[in-house]
Amino acid sequence: MYSLKAILIAFAIGLSGVAAIMLFAAIMLFAAIMLFVGRRRTLRFSRTVDPSKCPRCAYDLRESKSRCPECGRPIDPQRAIRENEWICFDDRELWLHDTRQQRDLWRITWSDIQQIAIWKQDLFTTDMICLGFLLPLQQDYFSCNEEQVGWNPLQDKLAELFSIAQLSWFMQVAFPAFAENYTVLWQKPISTSPSNTQTTSS
Ligand SMILES: [Zn+2]
Repeated sequence: MYSLKAILIAFAIGLSGVAAIMLFAAIMLFAAIMLFVGRRRTLRFSRTVDPSKCPRCAYDLRESKSRCPECGRPIDPQRAIRENEWICFDDRELWLHDTRQQRDLWRITWSDIQQIAIWKQDLFTTDMICLGFLLPLQQDYFSCNEEQVGWNPLQDKLAELFSIAQLSWFMQVAFPAFAENYTVLWQKPISTSPSNTQTTSS
């Protein structure tokens, strides 16, 4: 004889079994995604960590122009350009400095920023995450990208100033690969009162 209680218990056990399987599947999927992302990030990091060395064999490329003399890998001129660009900031300003030309490509004041957006640029073999800063009366973003020096410290600064956490936008922008995934991360509130957190005297 089956009591209602016994049926309910059996049902609950069956249900928890399904839930456990689903939870397990979700954990495995998450682990796989994190592994994939971590690998991509690690590859990218190791590739950009020292621009003077060949990304494939670590041979010193400072004397070479077009190809690595050790393994024959072509030297990407765009990569060299990007890695000569440094994202710099202090408490007042943010600027992009070209170390080769010894000049600033752009320079903006934190408090002038109206909007911050992020998108991905398709580089055919890989893609590159770009951050853009929009100023009043400007049509185009002042942009920087993840291959430039200072990208990670910038993320910390954005978290501090605008509460933009890299974790919150990363999955949204990174997937699917090679899609632009343009996302506005921050928009200045419409209010006219300047809520300037900085202690600057102009
Ligand atoms: Zn090489």
